[in-house]
Amino acid sequence: MTRLTIESVETAIVDLPLRRPHQFSVLTIDHQSFVLVRLRTKEGIEGIGEAVVPGGPWWGGEAVESIKTLIDTYIAPALIGEDPTRVEWIAHKMNRIVAGNPFAKASLETAMYDAWGKAAGQPIYELVGGLYRDSIPVTWALGADDPKPIVEEAEVKLDDGLHSSFKLKMGVLDPDEDVSRIGEIAKALTPRASVRVDLNGAWDELIATRLLPRLEEAGIDLVEQPVPAWNVDGLSRIAAALRIPVMADESLRTPNDALTLAQRRAGDIFAVKIPKSGGFSVARKIAAVAEAAGIPCHGGTTIESSIGTAANLHLVCATPGVTAGSELFGPLLMTEDLAAEPLTYNDGHLHVPHAPGLGVQLDEHKLGRLRRPE
Ligand code: MN
Repeated sequence: MTRLTIESVETAIVDLPLRRPHQFSVLTIDHQSFVLVRLRTKEGIEGIGEAVVPGGPWWGGEAVESIKTLIDTYIAPALIGEDPTRVEWIAHKMNRIVAGNPFAKASLETAMYDAWGKAAGQPIYELVGGLYRDSIPVTWALGADDPKPIVEEAEVKLDDGLHSSFKLKMGVLDPDEDVSRIGEIAKALTPRASVRVDLNGAWDELIATRLLPRLEEAGIDLVEQPVPAWNVDGLSRIAAALRIPVMADESLRTPNDALTLAQRRAGDIFAVKIPKSGGFSVARKIAAVAEAAGIPCHGGTTIESSIGTAANLHLVCATPGVTAGSELFGPLLMTEDLAAEPLTYNDGHLHVPHAPGLGVQLDEHKLGRLRRPE
């Protein structure tokens, strides 16, 4: 049995430049920021975690600045003296101190699991079910740009054999124009490649019902969160009307959401992510509900660096129901990150590290250069 005692929790905001601007429906980012969490124990073990949101507070209301304040002021003091292996107990304690804010809580839970794994000499996947698979296919995200640069970027990935599946962001343009844009891209890339779209809830049900069949005809093979998070019945009607699968993302953050979505068949695939759900423990419960309902899961991303990506990777490699691949491409989009050794991508797959904990070592030199001055 591993027993540890938390001695300190420190945070730092880190800004990582991206290889190219990445466009979402509401903003374009040229760097990704995250809160690095360093949890140290009296036994001399350090666990690390990463709190990351997709570019800003638009997705879930949290931002790196609010996360840092919340952890430093309210959560960290309550963790001192606790045993980081008591994951469910600490999750309960954090929920009593701070409502919501899953992205903040997830970073702490990741640091707890990293410390636990290091102390036990086990990779995190051993602590959350054991190794079920040692790699996962990775879809590449192409943003919401014009067709020409998007097709060029996809062609390079296809030629290099890096990725054969692509996800396009929609929702920036007028819906009809956006569908024409996607149609052009799909014409150039399918059926050689799989092309999917993510609306991030940008359309109402009427627009979605009118336009999604056109995307289906154009060769798009999956649509993610076409309508807002709250519109579960709309998602259900859309999923019933389309032949291609509909993936639930923003509508799915808790096990209760998973149960509701499963009961109403609002989503053929569930996007599972550690950050939006507050950690491994809740994400595993969501996957369990999905498995009970016969709904496959997909390893989603919030555009994490190697630290957060490794956390998601341990989860999906220990979870049998994640049969719909992943989009754990975060580190590939960044020009550099804080890992001493990059994660292993090859043949369109991301391979799980087998070293204890997350299996990601912090590069202190890079941290010194990339951390935001306070
Ligand atoms: Mn999404």
